[in-house]
Amino acid sequence: MTESYDVVIVGAGFAGLTAARELSRRGYSVLQLEARDRMGGRTWTDERFGRQLEMGGTWVHWLQPHTWSEITRYDLAVVASPTAQQVRWIAGGQVRVESPADFRARITPGHNALLRDALKWFPRPYEPLSNPDLGEIDGQCILDRFGQLDLADEDRELQIGIWAEHFSAPPELCALTQALRWCAAASGDWQLMDDSTSTYRIATGTRSLAEGIHADSTADLRLGQVVRRISQDAAGAVVVTADSRTYAARQVIVTVPVNALAGIDFEPALPPLIGAAVAERLASRGLKTWIKVRGEVEPFTAYAPASNGLTWLRSEFPATGPDGDTIFVAFGPDAAVLDPNDLAGVTNAVHRWRDDLEILEVTGHHWVADEFSRETWPMLQPGQLTSYLAALQAGHGLVRFAGSDYATAWAGFIDGAIESGLRTAATVHRTFQSITR
Ligand SMILES: Cc1cc2nc3c(=O)[nH]c(=O)nc-3n(C[C@H](O)[C@H](O)[C@H](O)COP(=O)(O)OP(=O)(O)OC[C@H]3O[C@@H](n4cnc5c(N)ncnc54)[C@H](O)[C@@H]3O)c2cc1C
Repeated sequence: MTESYDVVIVGAGFAGLTAARELSRRGYSVLQLEARDRMGGRTWTDERFGRQLEMGGTWVHWLQPHTWSEITRYDLAVVASPTAQQVRWIAGGQVRVESPADFRARITPGHNALLRDALKWFPRPYEPLSNPDLGEIDGQCILDRFGQLDLADEDRELQIGIWAEHFSAPPELCALTQALRWCAAASGDWQLMDDSTSTYRIATGTRSLAEGIHADSTADLRLGQVVRRISQDAAGAVVVTADSRTYAARQVIVTVPVNALAGIDFEPALPPLIGAAVAERLASRGLKTWIKVRGEVEPFTAYAPASNGLTWLRSEFPATGPDGDTIFVAFGPDAAVLDPNDLAGVTNAVHRWRDDLEILEVTGHHWVADEFSRETWPMLQPGQLTSYLAALQAGHGLVRFAGSDYATAWAGFIDGAIESGLRTAATVHRTFQSITR
């Protein structure tokens, strides 16, 4: 038997949870189908190493308006990640050690040069395609731009490593426009951009924010329901799950990441530009891993060139508890090169910075191998912004796409997922209103 709803939402990450709350509170009948056995999507607060660790999205900031508004609404607190006493970075194969202030002074010229024109190209981050000349630079990757800048070789190598971490991707896949968009979202100030993206986390975990939003929703959320097919015609849409259940809907909101959309058959087929984006894939293919190191280690942050398995590492939890071990978090640009759960590989990468550390355990989630994400945080390849964003946001008939991958300003962040969930819910509501008028 086919159940009927006003709206079927595919996915229960932040975009899906937000859209479900908004539409169910407006009185629509909403069914939410989530493939995994948990909600939260690419955020996942999980108990590992005896702590609540974030496997995915973590840091939030008051400059991210949609996330911050939800943090206020659910009366949550944030805590700052620890401040490092020391920065270690690798250039020309050598490990350098500097104070955080000296390191910041070192990277400032490169960041300023790369990001100087952020507000020229993105004067209004919430209208990312508003500059008619964007096509002039959208084909460039950050390597093209760094090649034009007057930087010492070691500073160029350092900068490229930093951006490979920001992109969760090898540098040749990193669109210059995406770097400029990040900076424009932070009002053109790269230091604010840095603070916004890696300083504060929700004290009770991202899970508490997801639970807050879900508690305010009356949508029927069903976990473990993998959507395999979505068809539509003049009579409406039909959503089919892997176990052959069928659901009829007047509107469908799909919050599946672009790189995982190939897991669903659309009938009729997706429009050519969306199909091309799915086939090409977004840039994001990196890793995040948690590392348990024996004993107390003075906090430090570390950077490495893009060719290293890990390009950024930071002490995240100082030695506490009965075992007195220290926990680090680290990122790398390519999970095909280094698996986040590969103890030997991660140890090898960490030892490039400090070979005296005894790595006891590593843990992470392989988001790229996961069929329901196939990417970490969404980042664009050269040309994808001007080629695909408008088509992705326009949707496909009765099917609309929502999520961080489809967001306007802080695309790639929790904020973008919430923004897109809110906007898509508003569009669906407006559509229903125009039909009943
Ligand atoms: C390692 C990592 C680190 C990150 N760090 C940060 C950070 O510090 N700060 C920040 O703001 N953001 C960060 N992000 C990004 C942020 O987590 C995401 O942008 C955001 O959570 C995406 O939300 P979403 O709802 O758009 O997509 P998702 O969370 O991916 O939700 C989509 C949902 O759809 C489900 N789904 C997929 N396919 C199907 C199907 N066929 N049928 C049914 N359900 C399906 C998925 O299981 C998932 O639950 C990070 C992400 C990762 C992976």
